Amino acid sequence: MTQCPVCQSRDGFPCKKWGGMGADGYRYDCDVCGSFIFTRSAAASQYLDFTLPFRAVLSRRIRLQTDSLGSQDDIPVVTTYDIENLIEEAPSLPSPAQQASGIIRFVGDYVIKAAEPLRQFPPEFHPLVGAVDRRSAEKIASELIERGVLIGIDASDLQHQYQSIELDLTLAGWEIYEAEKRGVTKAKTGFIALKFGDATLDGLLDQHVKPKLQEIGHPLIDLRDVSRAGIIDNIMRAHIQDAAFIIADLTHDNPGAYWEAGYAEGLGKPVIYICEKSKFDDRQTHFDTNHCTTVMWTKNEPDEFVEKLAATIRRSLDYQ
Ligand SMILES: [Zn+2]
Repeated sequence: MTQCPVCQSRDGFPCKKWGGMGADGYRYDCDVCGSFIFTRSAAASQYLDFTLPFRAVLSRRIRLQTDSLGSQDDIPVVTTYDIENLIEEAPSLPSPAQQASGIIRFVGDYVIKAAEPLRQFPPEFHPLVGAVDRRSAEKIASELIERGVLIGIDASDLQHQYQSIELDLTLAGWEIYEAEKRGVTKAKTGFIALKFGDATLDGLLDQHVKPKLQEIGHPLIDLRDVSRAGIIDNIMRAHIQDAAFIIADLTHDNPGAYWEAGYAEGLGKPVIYICEKSKFDDRQTHFDTNHCTTVMWTKNEPDEFVEKLAATIRRSLDYQ
């Protein structure tokens, strides 16, 4: 049996390897990670020093990418470059509490769709909920049973993985599921921090950024649209707390934008910095944000900018 170069097929689920991908590498169809192409150079680097959490992060990324792609032909390609980037980025898996929410969502979605309890955790269960391996995902599920959120058979009591677990949500579980769903819908919005009153920036936002983000399901909250005199600071804090991500424009070195970005970073929200290109090239932004993701905009190429911005937002939300 082929061993998956990413998850190493540690849980015993099949992985198929296909040749004939030219000089590029091999295609793998892993039941856990999904379909992907691993380039030859990436394959040569794979034995370097991948830790288990690193493998889990990579597996989750491929799984999320595979599941979000419509076409079978358009599968993710993992190159040495991707691996090096990921090592540098050092992303972490979702916290155990977030994994627990993921499990509740997974079971709830399944039960609603299939109209019957979940009989088995599918192979892609742990990368989707963000656990390091299947065993640790099952442990959290067991704890959710103990707490009365899930009802079913504790997977750790089973002799082998194909025995049925008959998992469903309890009423308490459904309440959490509903609340999470509402939270998720709410948290899809973004918040924009910027200097008010710049005509170029305002035009860019109103004509290009807002329509595009609305279209991809991440509408922007712009305080100029909702401001009420006097209590703006509290409104702003509440909006940042509720937002899924923050866009901060640093073109004018606006202290407010820096403050809002810092507040959001402190809350653990993804912050995407934007800056007018010539300003960035001339004088850079504040040193602390130099290493952060900054998407450049120019007055004359708004389309290119919004595409990049949308892709950056998607990436930071999917891989959180
Ligand atoms: Zn795999």
